[in-house]
Amino acid sequence: MAESHGDGGAPLVSVVTPAFNEEANLEEFYRQVAVCLDAAGLTWEIIMVDDGSRDATENVIDRLNRRDARVRGVSFARNFGNQVAVSAGLAMARGEAVVIIDADLQHPVELIPKMVETWREGYEIVNTVRRYGNKAPLSKRFLSVIFYKVMNALSGTKIEAAAPDFKLLDRRVVDLLVQLPERTRYFKALIPWLGFRQTSIPFDCKERFAGTSSFNFFRLAELALDGIVSFSTKPLRAISYLGAIVLLITVPYGLWALFQFFFLGAKTPGWTSIILVNLLLGGATLISLGILGEYIGRIYNEVKQRPLYTVKKVWGADEKQVVQAAFPHERGEDETTRL
Ligand code: UDP
Ligand code: MG
Repeated sequence: MAESHGDGGAPLVSVVTPAFNEEANLEEFYRQVAVCLDAAGLTWEIIMVDDGSRDATENVIDRLNRRDARVRGVSFARNFGNQVAVSAGLAMARGEAVVIIDADLQHPVELIPKMVETWREGYEIVNTVRRYGNKAPLSKRFLSVIFYKVMNALSGTKIEAAAPDFKLLDRRVVDLLVQLPERTRYFKALIPWLGFRQTSIPFDCKERFAGTSSFNFFRLAELALDGIVSFSTKPLRAISYLGAIVLLITVPYGLWALFQFFFLGAKTPGWTSIILVNLLLGGATLISLGILGEYIGRIYNEVKQRPLYTVKKVWGADEKQVVQAAFPHERGEDETTRL
């Protein structure tokens, strides 16, 4: 099934895992993947992406790679965020099917053989859904429900609230994602947008094996904003509607004020109304500017055409190619080289 790549052939399954300060998890992660996928009789590789960790994550990857050449990976020169780490991992993956999974063992490795089976039934994308016995704080869950309602209404794609970045992607899908020229990669919305035959498998989310989560409220809010702004221009249209509504109210009011001035004689009331109108318009203007700013900021980021990430070290691939993959806008259409 897999075509040859000179080094014993490409594996069937690539397991891509982003890792930020995961020194205490990677050994165990590797062990579980090896046991589970060997038992299932699958050929595999693991791509570990060290997202500029401040602990010994890099050394652990180095050690694992020396022990087992099926562990490959890249270490970023600084932290670029989970979505970029996943992008780099996808670019390095050689498998016919690629599984994206967290390094902290919250996503059950045991599910991978079942995902592969489902893929073999003909699904190009196998998503997973968290069953809510979830111990996430109530506030986090509540906010996430609201976010997905807004996001789905705005973007017109259907994003499953409980679907984490734990999924299997067919080679065709991976090649497409790797070729995307855009910088803001919000996989949760991108993947449903791609289409293809998709299905979902439920699983129970576990506690982290070790370490702490690096997503606090502000990082989640940032990700949410990225999701909305990179997938929808409806907020921009909302500004126009807002302007129209304000005009509908203020024009008659202005006419009425003029009428009063010329025909009824100017009185001096009106302080309250002036303050109210000022506040209303000021608020609407600032929000509108803010929304415009969000889009302009992102356009600015895209046109700078900086690389997606900067590379410190590479295991099991040509460093030049991995560095090149960080410049997606410079890739030709026929370039689907596997690193
Ligand atoms: N991660 C990453 N870069 C970051 C933050 C997180 O690569 O800047 C990785 C992290 O190592 C883990 C996954 O993304 O494998 C999910 O992160 P985390 O467990 O902190 O988030 P949570 O599970 O709490 O949503
Ligand atoms: Mg986690």
